[in-house]
Amino acid sequence: MRLLLFGPPGVGKGTQAQLLSKEFSVPHVSTGDVLRAAVADGSELGKRAKAVMDSGNLVTDEIMIGIVREVLASPKTAQGFILDGFPRTLAQAIALSHIFEELDIRDFKVIDLKADDEEIVQRLSNRLVCPKDGRIYNKLTDGLAAGDPCPVCQTPLVQRNDDKEQTVRERLRVYHSTTEPIIHYYANSGVVLSVEATGSVDVVNREIKLMLRESGPD
Ligand code: AMP
Repeated sequence: MRLLLFGPPGVGKGTQAQLLSKEFSVPHVSTGDVLRAAVADGSELGKRAKAVMDSGNLVTDEIMIGIVREVLASPKTAQGFILDGFPRTLAQAIALSHIFEELDIRDFKVIDLKADDEEIVQRLSNRLVCPKDGRIYNKLTDGLAAGDPCPVCQTPLVQRNDDKEQTVRERLRVYHSTTEPIIHYYANSGVVLSVEATGSVDVVNREIKLMLRESGPD
C-alpha cells in the first residue's frame, strides 16, 4: 500500500495516516513530524526550519525533497508507506515522480481530503498533540487540555505553535495558492481519490478504505 495524503492543514491527514498505517501495516511518513523532531533535537535542520514553520510558510523544496528521498530509499518503506504532507509544491511533485522512477514504484494512490476553511480553523484551534509519539487529540471531543498527560505515553500534550489562528490562516493561504493546484499534476493519471473529510474520524476512515477497495489493487 502506497498512499499520498493530500489536503489542507488540519483536514485530518495525520489522524487518518496513523489509522491507515496501523490497518495496512505500513509506516506513516509525516514530513511535518520529521521537521518537528529536528526542531526538538536542535539539529541544524531544525534550526533552519523552525522560524519558517512558526510563520506558516513552507520549508525549501531542496530540504524537503532530500528528506523524502532518504526516507523512501530506506528498507523500512520498501513494502509501502503513507506519505503525509508531501508533496506541497509542484517542484516536490515532480521530484517525487523521479524518486518513484528511481525506486521502480509504479502503483500509488493520492487521497485528496476536503474540508472548508472555517471548519479547519475551528479544528486546529482545538488540536492537541503529544510531542513524544505524535498522537493527535481534540480538546472538545477528547475532553483534554494543553498540559494534560498523553493518554498513551503520559507526556504532557501541547498545542502546536502554528495552530494559532493567524498562522492557521496563513497556512491555508499557502495551501490554496501553492499546494492545492498540484492535484492537477495527478488528476490525469487516475490515481486521485477525493474524500469529503467533514465527518467523524471513523466515517472518513471507512470512506477512504471503501474508495481504495473500489479503485482496485494498487
Ligand atoms: P504539517 O505537520 O504537515 O502541517 O507541517 C508543518 C509545517 O512543516 C508546514 O507548515 C511547513 O512549514 C513544514 N512542512 C511540512 N511538510 C512540508 C513540505 N512538504 N514542504 C514544505 N514545508 C513543509
